[in-house]
Amino acid sequence: MSLDVSKFSPSLERLVERIAKLPGLGRKSAARLALHILRQPDEDARELAQAILDVKSKIHLCRICSNFTEEETCSICVDMRRDHTLICVVETPSDVLRLERTGSFRGLYHVLGGVLSPLDGISPDDLRIAELVERVKDGTVREVILAINPTTDGDTTSLYLLRVLKERNVMVSRIARGIPIGAELEHVDEVTLASALEARTKMQ
Ligand SMILES: [Zn+2]
Repeated sequence: MSLDVSKFSPSLERLVERIAKLPGLGRKSAARLALHILRQPDEDARELAQAILDVKSKIHLCRICSNFTEEETCSICVDMRRDHTLICVVETPSDVLRLERTGSFRGLYHVLGGVLSPLDGISPDDLRIAELVERVKDGTVREVILAINPTTDGDTTSLYLLRVLKERNVMVSRIARGIPIGAELEHVDEVTLASALEARTKMQ
């Protein structure tokens, strides 16, 4: 059966095109999903559309750690049961989700928003590095754990952070390289990630 829906309706074609832009979905799966949405009751389709609009309008970055939140400060930063002397630095909010899923980290996070990349013109000012330095300033934080992906740019970023944080007299460690070289946090299972966090090493 041909799934070329373009000849049926321009609106359906538009939906297929939009869905096909999502990661991991080819045009064929996109057409199948679009047809599924078309067959759903109006209410279900409206709720899907509303849910998409809501995440775009309600979610923003936590004023402290830059993780996703609907409040001014995220639920992790306000949780007094967590260890506020420990900050784990990651690249993106999805890294926070992955580390949270391990259930083994009870400190706080700091989302950089990427890594330094001279080739792409990403300098320290483009990342939330100044905000991290600000957080360790008052001496409450005793250790910063770097959980940045072990790519060339990631390593450059880790070394840069080590340099600026050392001036602040805070201990800097990084998660163990039990993580396969070149692998990103996204592709590492929770058990490996948890043990890498546990076996973190102090950076020189
Ligand atoms: Zn936060």
